[in-house]
Amino acid sequence: MSLRVGIGYDSHRLVQGRPLMLGGVQVPFEQGLLGHSDGDVLIHAIIDALLGAAGLGDIGQHFPPTEERLRGVSSLRLLREVLQMLAQRGLRPLHVDATVVAEAPKLAPHLARMKEALQQAGLASVSIKAKSNEGMGLVGSGQGMAAFAVCLLSA
Ligand code: MG
Repeated sequence: MSLRVGIGYDSHRLVQGRPLMLGGVQVPFEQGLLGHSDGDVLIHAIIDALLGAAGLGDIGQHFPPTEERLRGVSSLRLLREVLQMLAQRGLRPLHVDATVVAEAPKLAPHLARMKEALQQAGLASVSIKAKSNEGMGLVGSGQGMAAFAVCLLSA
């Protein structure tokens, strides 16, 4: 068995008038993440970690923001597609660890639901953590959210 690691990062702007989707679940908040899809910054970082470990490029190559079929799409669906691509190549995600950085709202009460949604999408072993940015920078001022993920795959 050979092991491969991948890293993923993403950031999205917060805007009025959109639901806040994170880790495949809706989190009650007065703003949501802007994006061609549902803007789920956490799943996008996880997808990039998976694709990176698989040597399959990045999320923008597989799901370009110019594709009309992807407008408003659930990022859980994109995750399922990526997990299928990996399975077809005999690649198995052993574990994903991810951190979402958001000044508000408090995400701790929602992490268990996110983990469950990701596991139901086929990511058996996953860990999600949430941090604030201590009021610093663009994330700290509430302009947006960011997420980081690493993935270990067996090939
Ligand atoms: Mg994104």
